[in-house]
Amino acid sequence: MSGYDIVFAGAGHNNLVTAAYAARAGFRVLVLEGAPRIGGNTTCEELTLPGYIHDPCATAHNLIQSNPLMRNNELGLDRYGLKYLYPDPVFTMPFLDGASITMWRDLDRTCAELARFSQPDASAYRELLADWDKMAAGVNAERASAPRPPEEVDAATRQTPLGEEMLRIRRATAVDIIKERFRDDHVRAFFAWIAFMTLHPLDEPETGLMAFSLVAGRQRFSWILPEGGSIHLPMALARIIEEKGGTILTSKPIVRIAVEGGHATSVETADGATYEAGRAIVSTIHVKQIGGLVGEENLPAAYSAGVDRWEPNLTMFVTHYAMSEAPLFKTHDRAMPSVTAGALESLEAYEAVLRGYRSGRIDLNEPVVLALTPTVIDPSRAPAGRHTFKLVSFLPYELAGGPEQWDRIKSDVSNQLFDKVARLATNLSRDMVLGEHVDSPLDLERRNPANWRGSCHGGANSPAQSGWFRPVEGWSDYRTPIAGLYQNGACTHPGGSVSGLPGRNCAEVLLRDLGSSLEAATANKDAVER
Ligand SMILES: Cc1cc2nc3c(=O)[nH]c(=O)nc-3n(C[C@H](O)[C@H](O)[C@H](O)COP(=O)(O)OP(=O)(O)OC[C@H]3O[C@@H](n4cnc5c(N)ncnc54)[C@H](O)[C@@H]3O)c2cc1C
Repeated sequence: MSGYDIVFAGAGHNNLVTAAYAARAGFRVLVLEGAPRIGGNTTCEELTLPGYIHDPCATAHNLIQSNPLMRNNELGLDRYGLKYLYPDPVFTMPFLDGASITMWRDLDRTCAELARFSQPDASAYRELLADWDKMAAGVNAERASAPRPPEEVDAATRQTPLGEEMLRIRRATAVDIIKERFRDDHVRAFFAWIAFMTLHPLDEPETGLMAFSLVAGRQRFSWILPEGGSIHLPMALARIIEEKGGTILTSKPIVRIAVEGGHATSVETADGATYEAGRAIVSTIHVKQIGGLVGEENLPAAYSAGVDRWEPNLTMFVTHYAMSEAPLFKTHDRAMPSVTAGALESLEAYEAVLRGYRSGRIDLNEPVVLALTPTVIDPSRAPAGRHTFKLVSFLPYELAGGPEQWDRIKSDVSNQLFDKVARLATNLSRDMVLGEHVDSPLDLERRNPANWRGSCHGGANSPAQSGWFRPVEGWSDYRTPIAGLYQNGACTHPGGSVSGLPGRNCAEVLLRDLGSSLEAATANKDAVER
């Protein structure tokens, strides 16, 4: 017997959230992580040069801010070394014709930026935020609990202050919402760029809310990031787990989950060790890999068929740089550093990027780019006066000759993207680059097996893979067909991103099943005894 009540497979932030609640509720927890460090897609590494702390994956921690975990400070993470920084400007978007739009934390100042293009669009922005205020409570409540059947979601939507109009918005494409609300081409590109930041193709049905939630979230919380790097979220959670007597082991890839009499009983790691779970096993191993670990014969055909149908989501291409100075982005009246800058020329360019993506072509003509310089607000991430810089674009995992082609072409693709972005800054040149590291979509999968086929959000958030249907209809409540085995993380509702919502939702179901509750876990933040 290993003496643990709950064994957690994977130490991404979602499993650590669940483990922290469980540890606070008094359960003996063991977390096993395959990689040499915790955090999964919310980790940090010196990818380029010593002293340069990069976020290999997530940098922005926006979605977790609306999670009751943060909103109500349920675990007191601020007392465990987690401190958030709120950049101002939120982000800037230079265009090739010399125009620019900047989102500032001050709403009036953002509206003044939009009014330079169109006064009606500035007013439309205020209306969009006001409309989101009428929808936010319902959407946040929906995301912060196990999914409900579609008819219940529709009925609840009709009860919100926007009623039928909200239902129409939910079913619409975000591109249509942006076109009907905004007139100017630059303004439309600006909002499409933000709405796209969780990688839902905005021309697909049921993306309408993206045009509200992502925009409003940035206006409210900025491009919020943890001081010191993304790993400070998992580290704070790990401190809570260890303070409560839990154990976290790294470099422990799980190769088998034992099932006896229909019940998950233990896990086996690649080094031959076996860890028994007295009460439950909670996994963030990708759903595509779980059958191989538990044995397909232990899964009902309906579950396996659902997993077989599972589709990846859009994939990213990322280059990290150590820089001698921060890029200065061109705006209409000056050149300025900005933690976040965006590039998207127009809605037409966006649609061309999606077309290229869907046909497995690398279209670098007018790419969608996210440029991050966290050191503008957080000098602790680099040696004095130096900077970390991250360029993210959205390119397909599958290429005509197979994903392995990426190893041959990635550095050329990376250089081309750098040159494209250099046109939007006054000083960005190769002379500033002290070190670099490129991750193609294939590299992102190699980095973390949960990034199946490069998917950074578990898989598509299409209607067939959302809410009640995520990951498989009938098993969207974090339970799996195997008693005692729970599925957590980006493959579950409400999907990927640093939201911690799958983790907290899973904790709610798990703790209830084990005769405890979130309330028990959060009743006394300082001392919850067994
Ligand atoms: C390049 C990139 C940029 C991103 N940027 C952002 C951003 O700025 N903001 C944002 O909100 N989101 C961003 N995301 C998405 C976000 O990071 C993820 O959706 C989220 O972190 C997923 O968290 P998770 O806990 O569900 O899973 P993960 O973080 O993927 O954790 C799963 C863990 O399980 C481990 N594991 C898997 N298989 C095994 C096994 N067999 N045995 C043991 N351990 C195993 C993995 O090593 C990993 O540590 C980005 C993702 C990428 C890749």
